[in-house]
Amino acid sequence: MQKPETISLYEFFAKFPNEEAARLFFEEKRWGVTKCCPHCGSLSVSECKDHKPMAYRCKDCRKHFSVRTGTMLEESRLPLQKWLMAIYMMTIARKGIPSTQMARELGITQKSAWFLAQRIRESWFAKSNGGSNGGLDNVVEVDETFIGGKEKNKHASKKLNQGRGGVGKAIVIGVKERGGAVIAQTISNTNSKTLKEFIYRNVNSGATVYTDNFKSYRGIVGYTHGTVNHSVGEYVKHQVHTNGIESFWALLKRGYYGVYHYMSHKHLHRYVSEFSFRHNTAQIGTMQFIEATLNHMTHQRLTYKRLINA
Ligand SMILES: [Zn+2]
Repeated sequence: MQKPETISLYEFFAKFPNEEAARLFFEEKRWGVTKCCPHCGSLSVSECKDHKPMAYRCKDCRKHFSVRTGTMLEESRLPLQKWLMAIYMMTIARKGIPSTQMARELGITQKSAWFLAQRIRESWFAKSNGGSNGGLDNVVEVDETFIGGKEKNKHASKKLNQGRGGVGKAIVIGVKERGGAVIAQTISNTNSKTLKEFIYRNVNSGATVYTDNFKSYRGIVGYTHGTVNHSVGEYVKHQVHTNGIESFWALLKRGYYGVYHYMSHKHLHRYVSEFSFRHNTAQIGTMQFIEATLNHMTHQRLTYKRLINA
């Protein structure tokens, strides 16, 4: 397998030395060579002198616009170069990056850094749930894991009885194709209906599915189903094991406990997406990664209000 091409911080700044270079990059990714009015779709566009009040004006609807208009960048006043730096930092930090560090390095407040990172993650989240080309195939491993805070710090009324695994913890389910992609998401319980729906949605029928022998997995149809019984120390039964998805959980938890210290349940799904996205894009280079992120970013928006209410 070819080694993905990473770029150094030095190369990054050579590519994007200033705001102008960053803007041209965003514009090229959004429009290619022909700018298109985001208000009415017209291609008849003129550039404004000194880019005031905005960079472009539509000759048909006469409205002004910039590369931010109609995207998740619209409400942000941060320079585009800082957006690119943030994406770059999140791209190369394989275990994630705390918002305090991002704030320091970008020279912005922690609140701004946090919001910036959440919006970048949101664009990855949209990718992983875009239903691009169907589900996983061949041999896949399915497993759930529990992530969460210390039980003694919680009020009795907040304790959740989730049955298997632990009380008051968030549950994440994931599927991993052998040697391939991971799809993971948070779920509210581990009953049979929930687990099966996840499998049916994300694994193509005809695939071979390996799980442990938890009762909720019994009776999945449309697959060759193999189980491994962890409780009797039977961890690897020839090909039947779930070591791949378990390694993914180990990485996710290292991020949780090591870098972020605490992820609130409310935002956990974004972190899960972040880790899945990084895993699934481990073989692509830094610039392709940045371009993929930008591509999603310029086609969606996320307001602060929606984010904090999510
Ligand atoms: Zn227009």
